[in-house]
Amino acid sequence: MRASKYLIATVKETPSDAEIVSHQLMLRAGLIRKLASGLYTWLPLGLRVLQKVSQIVREEMNKSDAMEVSMPVVQPSQLWEESGRWQKMGPELLRFKDRHDRDFCLGPTHEEVITDIVRNEYSSYRQLPANIYQIQTKFRDERRPRFGVMRSREFIMKDAYSFHASQECLDETYAVMHQTYCNIFDRLGLNYRPVIADSGSIGGSTSHEFHVLADSGEDEIVFSSESDYAANIELAVGTPAPVDDEDDGESKSRELVNTDQASTIEEVASKLETSPQRILKTLFVHAANDEGERTGNLVALLLRGDQELNETKISKISGIASPLEFADDELIQKKVGCSVGSLGPVGLSDLGIRCIADNSTSEMHNFVCGANKPGHHFINANWDDDCSPDAIMDIRKIREGDISPDGKGTLSIKRGIEVGHIFQLGTKYSAALNAKVLDKNGKSVVMPMGCYGIGVTRVVAACIEQNHDAHGIIWPDAIAPFQLVIILIDAHKSEQIVEFGNSLYEQAQALGAEVLLDDRDKKTSPGVKFADSELIGIPHRLVVSPRSLADGVIEYKNRVATEKQLIETDAIASFLQQLFS
Ligand code: ATP
Ligand code: MG
Repeated sequence: MRASKYLIATVKETPSDAEIVSHQLMLRAGLIRKLASGLYTWLPLGLRVLQKVSQIVREEMNKSDAMEVSMPVVQPSQLWEESGRWQKMGPELLRFKDRHDRDFCLGPTHEEVITDIVRNEYSSYRQLPANIYQIQTKFRDERRPRFGVMRSREFIMKDAYSFHASQECLDETYAVMHQTYCNIFDRLGLNYRPVIADSGSIGGSTSHEFHVLADSGEDEIVFSSESDYAANIELAVGTPAPVDDEDDGESKSRELVNTDQASTIEEVASKLETSPQRILKTLFVHAANDEGERTGNLVALLLRGDQELNETKISKISGIASPLEFADDELIQKKVGCSVGSLGPVGLSDLGIRCIADNSTSEMHNFVCGANKPGHHFINANWDDDCSPDAIMDIRKIREGDISPDGKGTLSIKRGIEVGHIFQLGTKYSAALNAKVLDKNGKSVVMPMGCYGIGVTRVVAACIEQNHDAHGIIWPDAIAPFQLVIILIDAHKSEQIVEFGNSLYEQAQALGAEVLLDDRDKKTSPGVKFADSELIGIPHRLVVSPRSLADGVIEYKNRVATEKQLIETDAIASFLQQLFS
């Protein structure tokens, strides 16, 4: 490609509305342009990268025997009514009517459409497993589109759906997809981790997310220092490091003490000269009935004072309003007769308030807790003697340094960008849409399903988050828009520069390299050409200038090297061969 005839839409200034580096660099390097909130055009350079990512995904999916299809973006409401999601999904689902007043939506995902295809086209277990995918536009009317293509409203996803006649068969395909995802992210040159993930409203089934590690990531992921345990913090489990116990273990008698104005855990700890680990924290949330509606009652959640609540874990407990809602002071006053600051579990069962304690509180003894009397706490409270929770569960957010659930190593927390998500759907959609096949015994069975997504457009942004420096993007070779840029200096002064440049261009292309020949005229200064090549992040750069040609050399620089290299003009053919064959 000749830069003089190519859209090089680089921008010097950092756009003010771009918060994270990938968004800034994608705009500055001229990869994308914003059309409206969460809607982006992929310019020629950006599209080259996007197509390379898609192609790697496609090749690896094909290797795993998945079949590519293309389903419509526009989907009729009927299928969504069959699955129940027409009502259930919120405003993220963009609904509209056609000229005949029929309801449609823009597909945020394609479970309904693919299940409809499979129920019509498949009839026997012999045809299974079937793993069907597409690489295609999705639309989600995100509440807060941000970070450019990282969280946009329109984006490209590779979505695959597998169908099976048995759970074992689903387990096998799931394992193949897990490996396929590792192969894809390895080829993309990303530093990533598969982590155990929450399967959301679908419930307890198997699920993994693939996260690219980056400080700008919106998720927190938890790893063990000594095993392969890795999980999204939403559901990560572990044991808090043991409390330094200055107590001799004998249960003492509970005593009421005046704690005046001390209301936070820290204030109480300092007033009573103890540590937050020895204080029981009591939080009140709204209770819900079996239908999930708020009842006006409270549920008390009990945690060790140094620990925090994990809202995802809580939202799965039946009897608690979801989304989780903390009770306000007025309601707590009404139900408990005391306001926030001196709340505790003693006597709550007499008030009909359900108490759920975190696992880590079981070990506590002679602890401090609020006395449900303004300005007062108990010291030396003990389970059984003074109060008993209705349930003991894991409701705690993992903290750095906790012990891994497999007992091997300690846990650390890093930020990650979710680029892929695989999960076992079970029969949620196939049962709703009545997608059945005949099994070995001639019995009609509902097909268990798996689904497997990769955010193709998000991968491009995530890759930049991981691969950049102060000058711009540093593409891994596999997805660079061009592998080589040849910069011509003062070409208007010397025909020899043009000829030499052209010959390099042709030689490199003949070796299969994708080459950008920067033949822009004198209006584009050498400095701008250098800066653009670094901003765009092309891995290899050759510079043809009158001075170097006179010396019989060509200047080469790798995007990540600090030093330039001079290559004899006679040796350039073999140098190119080394780079590109
Ligand atoms: P997130 O938690 O980031 O909103 P999600 O869990 O809703 O994502 P999935 O339904 O699992 O997303 O979709 C599969 C993949 O599609 C995600 O792993 C992510 O890479 C990508 N993706 C999802 N939403 C967006 C978006 N708004 N913009 C770009 N990519 C997205
Ligand atoms: Mg997800």
